[in-house]
Amino acid sequence: MTDRPTEGPGAVAESRADRPMVECQSLVRIYRTGSTARGGVEVQALQGLDLTVREGELLALVGASGSGKSTLLGILAGLDTPSAGTAVVDGTDLGALKRRERTAYRRRTVGVVQQQTASNLLPYLTARENVQMPMAYVGAPRQERAARAMELLDLMGIAQAADRTPAMLSGGEQQRVAIAVALANRPRLLLADEPTGELDTATSEEVFGALRTANSELGTTVLIVTHDALVADQVRRTVRIRDGRTSTEVLRHRADTGADGALTAEEYTVLDRVGRLQLPREFTESLGLAHRVRLVLEHDHISVWPDQDRPPAER
Ligand code: ADP
Ligand code: MG
Repeated sequence: MTDRPTEGPGAVAESRADRPMVECQSLVRIYRTGSTARGGVEVQALQGLDLTVREGELLALVGASGSGKSTLLGILAGLDTPSAGTAVVDGTDLGALKRRERTAYRRRTVGVVQQQTASNLLPYLTARENVQMPMAYVGAPRQERAARAMELLDLMGIAQAADRTPAMLSGGEQQRVAIAVALANRPRLLLADEPTGELDTATSEEVFGALRTANSELGTTVLIVTHDALVADQVRRTVRIRDGRTSTEVLRHRADTGADGALTAEEYTVLDRVGRLQLPREFTESLGLAHRVRLVLEHDHISVWPDQDRPPAER
């Protein structure tokens, strides 16, 4: 799990930043439509997904339509339960929650922002009232609700819109109010499912900026599902989900050298618990790797070579 020694002189006490906020192991979600006895269809939306999100991280999850992103978010939001495998958020095993615990989890531990701007807000309430709503559910005192709502709207840069209803707000403003609503009860984890999917580029940037503020100012761990290359390029870690499994990861870091301090990207792939990994298609195609590859163990890495026993045309 960790490459650090857990005891002895090199041991590092587990700090906040080291504790995973989200830990999914071999997560499976099967949807059954119709009666299987009468030839109903089974869809395996998640097929043994492994994912770790560290506390305080801002992570982008990307993947083609139908790859299982919303299914995963539904499970992490406590709205759906896995068919197999485990999902642990902030130390809570989501598969083991009783009904009341699940309700408490949904109200306090996670905040959710959906793609459909309209579905995040109650149309007949003002922005301020929308943000106060989740606090009313957990019984926060009226004064505290009012103060917290204004504080959050201010943080999201939309204090001026506090007394407007959603219909009087632009799509970007609605999403920023939705983020404030999701943050109302100080969730540990903020989940956003394609929050910029219905917005133009400039407005997407505003909304992404608001999510980043939630992460940096409030320390909330943020998981964003996005198709938006712009968003994916701006976060430190991007995880690609393919066919219901996480496959590759891109990690960006500021180069130590280089005058412009530009972000450089490195591609990682997930090594699962039985040692399988998925190579990015661009890599395999550019070298003509297929069917069988030759592995060589070097002293500090493993190299992967085309199968020399077969002519290039057959590889
Ligand atoms: P994404 O959000 O990445 O587009 P989804 O998680 O929505 O993917 O869907 C993953 C797969 O599961 C798709 O094949 C989709 O058709 C299927 N699926 C999602 N929800 C349901 C459902 N409620 N019933 C049946 N199949 C579903
Ligand atoms: Mg989706």
